[in-house]
Amino acid sequence: MGRTIKTRGIIVGEAPMGEQDKRLTILCEDKGRLSAIAKGAKKPGARLASQAQLFYYCDMMLEESRGFWYLRESSVIESFYNLRQDIQVLAWASWMVETARELAVEGQDSKELLHLLLRGLKMVSEPMLSPRMTATTFVLRALSDQGLQPEDQRCIDCGRPLPREAFVSPSAGGLVCETCVKAHVDGMALSEGSLYTMRHILHTDPSILYKFQASAEIQQELFRFTRLYLHNYTQREMSSLEFLRNLGEIPGNR
Ligand SMILES: [Zn+2]
Repeated sequence: MGRTIKTRGIIVGEAPMGEQDKRLTILCEDKGRLSAIAKGAKKPGARLASQAQLFYYCDMMLEESRGFWYLRESSVIESFYNLRQDIQVLAWASWMVETARELAVEGQDSKELLHLLLRGLKMVSEPMLSPRMTATTFVLRALSDQGLQPEDQRCIDCGRPLPREAFVSPSAGGLVCETCVKAHVDGMALSEGSLYTMRHILHTDPSILYKFQASAEIQQELFRFTRLYLHNYTQREMSSLEFLRNLGEIPGNR
């Protein structure tokens, strides 16, 4: 028998492996991103089949064998059942876990990212809130907490303070002024409400982060910026965005 560990984490990715197994990506509280094989998880009625599921938050026992981790036991703390009751909510939640998968680092303590994701997955199915805004809030704050905070106070080129309305450039990494925006092909206007909301997302206490309403204009502006800012980091098209596009949640050219 190889080395065994106990950990608490959320399943942020799953892929079939052969006829009966699954390869899982787990965001662990204390170990960051970890890949593990769940033997028999695709077999109906198998012990792990009901536990090795995307979005599940679990206490897990893993065993290492020949350089691979195997999920041996799992006890579900929270299954996020509500995420699967609405396809739009499911698509936005998929973008959240795919982002977490990209941002998590192997072997790194990930309590902050994990708890940000857990709170976000609870809120994304909240009927009073917009799933687009909740998912955007998670992605922007997660990027920022991982050391990729966009500049939200001054023009990134000339340093001029920008208290209210501004422009923003995802590739430059934040705000740009009216003059400097001309040098950025991806520059876009950011309304006063969007700038205010962006600052709330970047700086407020995580425990109250998701509880706010925003206009459709603010949601669109911040989603657009966040998606492109994330793309700058990942440098690849995420499959969850294709899912959102197929549902008409993202207009074709955005
Ligand atoms: Zn400037």
